[in-house]
Amino acid sequence: MSELYDFEDAIAAFDPVMGLEVHVELSTLTKMFCGCANKFGAPPNSQVCPVCLGLPGAMPAVNHKAVESAIRLGLALNCQIATRSTFARKNYFYPDLAKDYQISQYEDPIDYDGFIDVELADGANFKIAIERAHMEEDAAKNTHVGGEAGRIQGAAYTLVDYNRGGTPLVEIVTKPIEGTGARAGEVARAYVAAIRELVVALGISDARMEQGSLRADVNLSLRPKTADPAAQAAVPFGKRSETKNVNSLRAIERAVNYEIRRQAGLLSAGQLVVQETRHWHEDTGSTSPGRSKEEADDYRYFPEPDLLPIEPARAWVEELRATLPELPAKRRARLQAEWGFTDREMRAAVNGGALDLIEATVAAGATPAGARKWWLGELSRVANERGLELAALPVTPQDIAQVEELVGSGKINDKLARKVLEGVLAGEGSPEQIVAAQGLTVVSDDAALGAAIDAALAAQPDIAEKIRSGRVQAAGAIVGAVMKATRGQADAARVRELILERFSAD
Ligand code: ADP
Ligand code: MG
Ligand code: ZN
Repeated sequence: MSELYDFEDAIAAFDPVMGLEVHVELSTLTKMFCGCANKFGAPPNSQVCPVCLGLPGAMPAVNHKAVESAIRLGLALNCQIATRSTFARKNYFYPDLAKDYQISQYEDPIDYDGFIDVELADGANFKIAIERAHMEEDAAKNTHVGGEAGRIQGAAYTLVDYNRGGTPLVEIVTKPIEGTGARAGEVARAYVAAIRELVVALGISDARMEQGSLRADVNLSLRPKTADPAAQAAVPFGKRSETKNVNSLRAIERAVNYEIRRQAGLLSAGQLVVQETRHWHEDTGSTSPGRSKEEADDYRYFPEPDLLPIEPARAWVEELRATLPELPAKRRARLQAEWGFTDREMRAAVNGGALDLIEATVAAGATPAGARKWWLGELSRVANERGLELAALPVTPQDIAQVEELVGSGKINDKLARKVLEGVLAGEGSPEQIVAAQGLTVVSDDAALGAAIDAALAAQPDIAEKIRSGRVQAAGAIVGAVMKATRGQADAARVRELILERFSAD
């Protein structure tokens, strides 16, 4: 075994090249080639039929809605849509593949030659070229019991749930991604995030990585780095590893960075990178060998004889184009303009996962700046503390709009607003209910404030003397004392006015 190389040294000596394969399960009502329900979480083997169980003689039929979703995705990825697209059999044996072949697409995928622009956390942009996106069916789900970390090695037995078998999938394959250097991991992560956001916006998948409805394989190779960057593109690619089924955005970035270090270790020690699939281990942040990688020949691809080619009419493709929603990047640009956020503020909102929440809060009547302040300030802090996503906090955009409104109308101040939020987060009710129940409104009633000011002045005669002799800054101490006496509920600006009025009348 060679050593893991230091990341900086690896990047100084080698140029990473990546390829990403993203599998998206489509959320159609039925499966890809049969009428079985396509729904996650049903009892095992309750959503099966002769077609998806691969019984002899059963005939597949293409799910029209899945084709529609694949075309809409292709259009959103700036792809060409094939005029003639065929299915093929990809032959291999595994218990989760009842037919011993997977119906996929090989020679003429439905979508090809596209691109997507992705934005990194600091605003840098990368254009990722898409090679193709093809339709296929998912395999069933194996559960290996009794082995280590759910692996087949050492398992006592394996359960197979054929419910997932035949789920419509689109696999999106990038062209080799070059020129990312040290940012390869970030780019991979941002790309998968962009695909996820896109399919959600299109409404074609719920894209839940934790449930496997969006999965990514990470191909990575290194080649020697040239002294002259212009010469880099001419250096042939190295051998790649393919890390399978990486199932979170963070893991994608980690897997890329790990493979860079591992391969740099091998190459620097004069060893070779083996072309193979690898497993990702979340706990150790490392990969281990899977199987040596088949070439396409090994799958004995051949045209699926039971399905006709798909020949989408151009008029239909244009109809589908007209159904595309506003795409995420465009929506972000529009919202930024509407809200008047700086680039930095906008990035903070996006990176903080607050975009939808701010939009809903503004729709509920808050100002954009107010909505941003609460979601990215106090609430982000609480979410962080509790290890939750912002959207999972027990507070709604309507609550935040109400808090804003209460502050705007002068009923409560910022300090009280924080208390109100605490109450909302503790499940004590809506902001208005909490204000009413705890009597949290700002005291701006002059008589009540006057009494508190008198008490504060009487308690600190030296300060009173200073103010009287014209040192108005000293009034701050009295304002502070009044705030304290009223548990933060006094209207500080009014208190100050009242103090100064008092002395100018002397
Ligand atoms: P496979 O069937 O082996 O998964 P695919 O063509 O589906 O092959 O996907 C391979 C992915 O790896 C593509 O995204 C491709 O651009 C990328 N790729 C190909 N060669 C290399 C290489 N040498 N280094 C890194 N990525 C590569
Ligand atoms: Mg592949
Ligand atoms: Zn079925």
